Amino acid sequence: MVINIITIFPKMFENIFEYGILKEAFSKNLCKVNIFDLRDFSEDRHRKVDDRPYGGGAGMVLTPGPLDRAINFIKSGKAHKQGQKTILLTPKGNMLKQRMIKELSLVENIILVCGRYEGVDQRVIDLDIDLEISIGDYVLSGGEIPAMVLLDGIIRLLPGVIGKRESLAAESFENNLLDYPQYTRPFEYKGLKVPEILLSGDHQKIKKWREQKASEITRKRRPDLFDKKT
Ligand code: SAM
Repeated sequence: MVINIITIFPKMFENIFEYGILKEAFSKNLCKVNIFDLRDFSEDRHRKVDDRPYGGGAGMVLTPGPLDRAINFIKSGKAHKQGQKTILLTPKGNMLKQRMIKELSLVENIILVCGRYEGVDQRVIDLDIDLEISIGDYVLSGGEIPAMVLLDGIIRLLPGVIGKRESLAAESFENNLLDYPQYTRPFEYKGLKVPEILLSGDHQKIKKWREQKASEITRKRRPDLFDKKT
């Protein structure tokens, strides 16, 4: 998989590939990420990429030219022939869900466009964007952190990244359930003990206990999910 990111702050992405599962995915060559500086596609001698909104109002808007040129430059590359999706991170987009991340983990080429200021000129969306994604009902100052959220969610699902596939199958949101409570050593901490059943060695009983706890926590915290459980 190749993920291309268009941003005015490329340095924000410098360190995120040096830790944990993302680092492992890169060291195994399971994924390639290219970061493009939007200003490199500006035709302005000051590398300007924003302007005032037509109709007035506060803030600035990313102009269509540099974004459109950056997207088409990436699309014209050899690696971009097959399955591809160009995604804009925006609070107006479809709410990001684990199901969506799973679908995107199957796409071969992804372009992530990070907005800034008041957002991007609508014509870029009309011309170049396949999908608009929001990471939640709140407004951040830029699309870089939402892009990192998406990156992390996708890359950890790529085949070969996480050793035991079962650990993914039991995660929150699988079958519309949240994860069950987890315990590790020591057996007792500040007077709180690990539930005895987890030490019983009876795998059937442990499985049942975990299912029951997952149901309880989902019903209490996310009745919307629980109602969709099969
Ligand atoms: N004026 C825009 C609005 O009200 O919808 C907000 C723009 S926001 C300050 C700047 C950029 O941050 C957006 O273009 C988008 O790329 C990113 N952004 C902010 N919140 C986001 C969210 N919840 N999900 C995805 N991207 C977000």
